Amino acid sequence: MIDPLPATPALPRDLLGRPLHDLRISVIETCNYRCPYCMPEGLTPDETALDRASRLGFDEIETAVRAFARLGVSKLRLTGGEPLLRRHLPDLVARLAAVPGIEDLALTTNGSLLAGQAHALRQAGLQRLTVSLDALDPAMFRSLSGGRGNLDDVLAGIAAAEAAGFRSIKVNCVIQRGLNEDQVLAIAGHFRGTPHVPRFIEYMDVGNCNGWRREGVVPSAELRDRIHARWPLRSLTPTYRGEVATRHGYEDGAGEVGFVSSVSDPFCGDCHRARLSADGQLFTCLFAARGQPLREHIGHGEDALAEHLAGLWRVRADRYSEQRASAPADRKKIEMFYIGG
Ligand code: SF4
Repeated sequence: MIDPLPATPALPRDLLGRPLHDLRISVIETCNYRCPYCMPEGLTPDETALDRASRLGFDEIETAVRAFARLGVSKLRLTGGEPLLRRHLPDLVARLAAVPGIEDLALTTNGSLLAGQAHALRQAGLQRLTVSLDALDPAMFRSLSGGRGNLDDVLAGIAAAEAAGFRSIKVNCVIQRGLNEDQVLAIAGHFRGTPHVPRFIEYMDVGNCNGWRREGVVPSAELRDRIHARWPLRSLTPTYRGEVATRHGYEDGAGEVGFVSSVSDPFCGDCHRARLSADGQLFTCLFAARGQPLREHIGHGEDALAEHLAGLWRVRADRYSEQRASAPADRKKIEMFYIGG
């Protein structure tokens, strides 16, 4: 039985009745990789590059999180760009872990810098990790990271995270037809028998510069069937309402895999996620065209900010993935690396 989300009347719900439960915080918009589906080399808009002064400071991020927590947010995910590029990140983790109401503190990383930071992040109070890994073939991994990534660094990062106490690491893998779909069984096989969970993500039309075509999408159902043919799977119940990935366990008990199906099976109906960009803008959808600047409101303090945020959430009606088919092809969308997936 999935626990229904707490229906505290004072907490805001959007125009589709969705509460505010998750906050994804981009702590930095830059990245040391150039994955073509997210930050293609030389194609990303200049205005997404911020200077240090434009990025929220830790005091501002903490004030924002305290305000969001008052509106029902209990789950935080730190993202980027590549969040491990943000200096003194364990200090921020420790501060956010101490905010009343925050029960779940996670981070998504490309794993390249994880080996050197996993222990400090764990000690600071980070609870969960998601590592991106689009291939286990070293040459393909390098090309899928825009010629910048080294597979061994990421595998060393996962090993260091295990040693630091991260029990079940989520491993995100974006599958593109004709590119890395042959890596699905390799990645599933690599993590079978471990507590780590590969999640195969349908290639999405995020932003405006990744050249997305629907033909490049491999529907999750097809991937599931491929894995099932090799290692029989059975469906598992979601961990909580609104969980992004559908869960499937191996019938032989050797672990589980997940599928994120934003294209073939949209999940906007239960989307209770907000996003905060590194320069303090609120985005209420991954595919939003623009954000709501919050920095000035953060400066007015927690009470005023909470009131302002509640007002913004109450008028939210986003459900892009459900409307994708009717959306104009040239619809402007924020770049994913700017708001962190
Ligand atoms: S498309 Fe937007 S509204 Fe739908 S699930 Fe994704 S972020 Fe939420």
